[in-house]
Amino acid sequence: MNKLKPILVTGGTGYIASWIIKYLLDDGYSVNTTVRKISDTEKYSHLTKLVKTSKGNLTFFEADLMKKNSFLNAMKGVEIVIHTASPFIVTNIKDVQKELIEPAKLGTINVLNSVNETESVKRVVLTSSVAAIHGDNIDIKSTKGNIFKEEYWNTTSSEKNNPYPYSKYLAEVEAWTMQKKQTRWTMTTINPSFVFGPSLSIRTDSTSIKTMLQLGNGTFLVGVPELYFGVVDVRDVALAHIKAFQLENSSGRHILCADSIELFEIGKILKKHFPKYWFPLGRVPYFLIWLVAPLLGFTRDYIEKNMGVKLAYDNSYTKKDLNFDFRNIEDTFRDHFEQLIDDKLV
Ligand code: NDP
Repeated sequence: MNKLKPILVTGGTGYIASWIIKYLLDDGYSVNTTVRKISDTEKYSHLTKLVKTSKGNLTFFEADLMKKNSFLNAMKGVEIVIHTASPFIVTNIKDVQKELIEPAKLGTINVLNSVNETESVKRVVLTSSVAAIHGDNIDIKSTKGNIFKEEYWNTTSSEKNNPYPYSKYLAEVEAWTMQKKQTRWTMTTINPSFVFGPSLSIRTDSTSIKTMLQLGNGTFLVGVPELYFGVVDVRDVALAHIKAFQLENSSGRHILCADSIELFEIGKILKKHFPKYWFPLGRVPYFLIWLVAPLLGFTRDYIEKNMGVKLAYDNSYTKKDLNFDFRNIEDTFRDHFEQLIDDKLV
């Protein structure tokens, strides 16, 4: 494909989007990206630095998910749209509609309305999540063989119960509905589990970065709840987005999960590599977490449906369809923590 034809990556300031942009630039592509405020140059200074040493070109546009037609300018002449911009917040949510549902769902509708209006667009790669596949960990008990696959949808989340997964579910459903109403552009979705790995910026407000910081700065020193996650490296997530448009026959949804692991085990891996830091000393017993859950910002219902419930994801379709293999998660955690140290964030 003609690498001079720009590719649009929405939300360029983000943790995942920054890696997608880096790989595209390194490979010589022309990239258009959107930021919420073009005058806030600090937020994307890592990208302006990157472009100086790469083969590609990068152009910034201002766009907001909540403003209609906001993405039209950035989409002019574009064949590939990679839509990653969407809030990833799981705690301290005051207004679920305004902070999560509207930017995720209406934001996706806005972006795809612009895709419908832009004749040049042929393919959309949407950053969805395993959160669009399931809500609480206990949902795994309703799957065949106790494993999540791309065929499942999150039918248990709502505005009250797991609002972030609900927002991702609504956005992906909307996207497929809009895609199926036309034939000009195709779509594939990337559905990552919890993403870790080095960040290209020093921002710490992404949930992935915050979690890694809290694991090593003593926040959880006394112990962590017995919680299990699927995890995947941010560099693999970025590569998967790129393969999803380069491999023209790739299709459908793609689970991105290298392995499933308990929070305490992540701390143990990190302790091995960075013995001087304050990783969790143990697991907090179930009854104690259940008792204090509301004080920690969790509902007791969440604890009952998630704590102690192991997760498993089938990543075989992704490996085959995207001709892809996953990094070892020990390297992911080590590299991530090393970056936090190098950037003096811990
Ligand atoms: P970040 O918080 O780092 O990035 C989110 C991006 O969305 C930022 O660029 C942010 O802009 C932008 N954004 C948020 N609200 C708006 C808005 N109203 N208008 C325009 N842009 C907006 O998160 P991640 O990189 O981790 O997440 C990126 C995508 O990946 C999201 O869709 C998320 O749901 C998905 N995902 C993430 C996972 C993870 O573990 N990190 C796992 C699975 C899926 P700004 O910088 O201005 O805030």
